[in-house]
Amino acid sequence: MKVLVINCGSSSLKFQLIDMQTEKTLVSGMCDRIGLEGSVLNYKKNGEKIEKKEAIPDHSKAVSMVLDALTDKKIGVIGSLEEIAAVGHRTVHGGEHFKESVLIDENVIKHMEECSMLAPLHNPANITGIRACQKLMPKTPMVGVFDTAFHQTMPPKAFTYGVPYEWYEKHKVRRYGFHGTSHKYVSQRTAEFLGLDYYNSKIITCHLGNGSSIAAIKNGKCIDTSMGLTPLEGLIMGTRSGDLDPGILEYISQKEGISVKEVVNILNKKSGVLGISGLSSDFRDLLDADLKGNERAKLARAAFAYRVVKYIGSYCAVLIGVDAISFCAGVGENANFIRGMIVDHLEFLGVKLDTEANKVCGQEAIISTPNSRVKVCVIPTNEELVIARDTKTIVSQL
Ligand code: ADP
Repeated sequence: MKVLVINCGSSSLKFQLIDMQTEKTLVSGMCDRIGLEGSVLNYKKNGEKIEKKEAIPDHSKAVSMVLDALTDKKIGVIGSLEEIAAVGHRTVHGGEHFKESVLIDENVIKHMEECSMLAPLHNPANITGIRACQKLMPKTPMVGVFDTAFHQTMPPKAFTYGVPYEWYEKHKVRRYGFHGTSHKYVSQRTAEFLGLDYYNSKIITCHLGNGSSIAAIKNGKCIDTSMGLTPLEGLIMGTRSGDLDPGILEYISQKEGISVKEVVNILNKKSGVLGISGLSSDFRDLLDADLKGNERAKLARAAFAYRVVKYIGSYCAVLIGVDAISFCAGVGENANFIRGMIVDHLEFLGVKLDTEANKVCGQEAIISTPNSRVKVCVIPTNEELVIARDTKTIVSQL
C-alpha cells in the first residue's frame, strides 16, 4: 500500500509518498512560493534532487504538479494515481472535536472551518490542500491527522486557563497544544529505543525547531504541553515570544501607539530569539554571532535554553519523576551546544551528559552517560510516518 502524505501551508505544500510495506519514503518534496513570484517544485528521489521552476498560482496547481511528477515516465515512481491507496493530510487545529485521526468528509471539513479562527495561518491552507486533492483524486480516501489530537488526553486542570470559565464554555478558550504528531512519534520511539514499556513510562519530549514546544507524557498519554490556545504560548521560539505577561499587550499598544492586533503580530513574527538578538531566528547564525562576541546573540540562546530548563523542571514535578528526556526537530536534533546548555542544568535530576555522544547531529542517540539516572536522547522526528501509519490504519478498516 502506498500513502501520499500532504502538509499544506499558506504558500507551500510538502509531500512524501510512503510505501507502507517497508515504511520507506519513495519520493519527497515541496512546492514553494505558491501564489507568489518564483514558485518552484523541489522533488527528491533516491537522494537525487530535481527542481522545476514554474508558475504555481494556487494549491490545485501544486497538487496537480506533484501528481504529474509522481506518475512521470522519467522521474515518477508509480504507473498511475490508482496506486496511491490514500492521502494523509497534516491538519493543524482540530479543537476539542478531534481526539484522533479521521476519515475526511464534508462534516470534518466543516469542523475544521470552525477551528480556523484558532489557527488562521494553518487550517484554511490545510482545507485548500484537501479540496485540491479531492478534485484530482475524487475516489481516493483522505485522512486528517491533527496536530492537536495527541494532546487531547490532557486533564482539565492542565488545559484550563485561570480566566472566567464562560470563556471556555462560550468560546472554547483552553490549552490545546500543537506538534502532537511529533510528540507522539518521538515519545513512542524513545520508549522503543530505550527498551522502556511505553504504557508504564514518564517521558518529556522537547520539539525544538523554528516553532518549539515541550510535552509531558505519562504511560503513553500526554498530560501537559507548553503551547496553548494558539502556537504562541510556551517556549521562546525562532520568532514567537512564548509565555509572557498579558499586561504587556496593552502597555506596548499604548507606548508604541499600535493596535493589540499589531502587537500580537510582532509577538508571532518579530519576537523570540530573533527579537532578543535583533539578528536572526536561526540558531546557526546566533552561534556564529555569539562566537564573535555578540552579547545579544548570547542572551537569546541563554534565554531560550533557560525557558526549556524551566519547563523540564515543572514537567518533572507534574509527572512525579521522569525516565527519559528526548530532543527533536531542527534545533533539538542538530544544535548540540543548545542541548548541552539545557542538559548541564539538569544534574539535580541525576542527569549526566556524555559530551562525546552529544556531538551527534540528526540521528538517534543516547546522549547521557550509561550511569545517568534519567536517559537523554536525540530522536529525529518523523511526523510524515505517523500521518501515513494513521492513514493506513483508518483506510484498512473501510
Ligand atoms: P520548523 O519549525 O520550521 O519545522 P525545523 O524543525 O526544521 O523548523 O527547525 C529549523 C531550525 O532549526 C532553524 O531555524 C535553525 O535554527 C535550527 N537548525 C537547523 N539545523 C541546525 C544546526 N545544524 N545547528 C543549529 N541549529 C540548526
